[in-house]
Amino acid sequence: MSVAILVLNAGSSSLKFSVFLCDGEILKPYLSGRLEQLLSTPQFVATDVSGVVLGQRRWARGELAGHDGATAYLARFLHDHLGEHQLGAVGHRVVHGGLEFASPILVTEKIVAKLTQLVPLAPLHQAHNLKPIRALLAERPELPQVACFDTAFHHGQSELAQAFALPAEITERGVRRYGFHGLSYEYLASVLPTYDNAAAAGRTIVCHLGNGASLCALRAGRSVASTMGFTPLDGIPMGTRCGSLDPGVVLYLIDELKMDARGIEDLLYRQSGLLGVSGVSNDMRTLLASEEPGAAAAVELFTYRIGRELGSLAAALGGLDALVFTAGIGEHAAPIRERICRAAGWLGVELDHAANLAGGPRISTKGSQTAAWVIPTNEELMIAQHTQRRLSLGTANGPNSEPE
Ligand code: ADP
Repeated sequence: MSVAILVLNAGSSSLKFSVFLCDGEILKPYLSGRLEQLLSTPQFVATDVSGVVLGQRRWARGELAGHDGATAYLARFLHDHLGEHQLGAVGHRVVHGGLEFASPILVTEKIVAKLTQLVPLAPLHQAHNLKPIRALLAERPELPQVACFDTAFHHGQSELAQAFALPAEITERGVRRYGFHGLSYEYLASVLPTYDNAAAAGRTIVCHLGNGASLCALRAGRSVASTMGFTPLDGIPMGTRCGSLDPGVVLYLIDELKMDARGIEDLLYRQSGLLGVSGVSNDMRTLLASEEPGAAAAVELFTYRIGRELGSLAAALGGLDALVFTAGIGEHAAPIRERICRAAGWLGVELDHAANLAGGPRISTKGSQTAAWVIPTNEELMIAQHTQRRLSLGTANGPNSEPE
């Protein structure tokens, strides 16, 4: 019998899950899956580590009751499929920890109330992240839940790196750069020494390029600067988010186009980025396969902006030893990596074209002054590790679920 840790990543219309078993301090992946299309016709699939389907189901519209129904269904499914193993804890991805939460925390009603206050800072994510936490607090109050924050890894950045040039009274309200995708960057910082010891001890820029996308400058494995700021809207263009924008554009939208806050939120979070520029899709695979001029324009702007941000982050680091690509686009889109590496030629990156097409892990030539790598991220494992450590699960100390 092993203690099992359930990792949940709840999005606007999906609930992704993974289960890890504690074998002493080692975490072994056991099963994973997703509930999708929660707001229309929900679907469920779960597979074991070798990809064998353990369960599959579809529901008609309105039959599953959203995130709460999905969480309840998953709890029943796990009850039936964990066999002799015992569910010991749930670890959640929570996008924003605000000023207060610099490390994973055991969740209570009081903590959920504090995290709810941060919903306006990540409207695309935070409210959804909290839904399964609330459902499990109500249904399984005895089950320890740990919230792991995408902002936490960046807390160690200098005040200078976190500051906006705004009046002090606004800054004091917590209006500053937080940075996101921290669980991904923390995972990569933890495995980088096994790929490139010198870079891990030195200066690295990680490009996390998924639907959401950002870049992070690491010095000796710690976050020094990142492209995302106060919200996950800042930085490079993303699937549907605009990335950096002159704040004057927002004033123009209000004054001239008479848009209100919700309309602007929808435009900047859901209608912009690759989707808005291309008019074709937010999906990089579709854009790369498309003949539409808008698709090419979107890909060009995406890689151009990343190239410029590389310069900014390399300046923050005072040079560069390695460039790392991760997440959906970073791990799988060789043509995008090629363009970015070309833009980083002046930083000493020389691409090995065959290695890039083969997917790495090392995609720079032997003689390249700066190394380039493709390293798959694993945010789920990072969350499971945090949950295990926070609760001392599977260790000699035994479970420790005292709230802080
Ligand atoms: P999320 O941020 O939702 O976790 P992912 O990390 O899964 O997103 O990344 C999704 C992005 O990765 C999409 O734009 C998708 O088109 C892109 N992607 C995945 N596989 C490929 C591929 N083989 N070639 C190009 N892009 C890909």
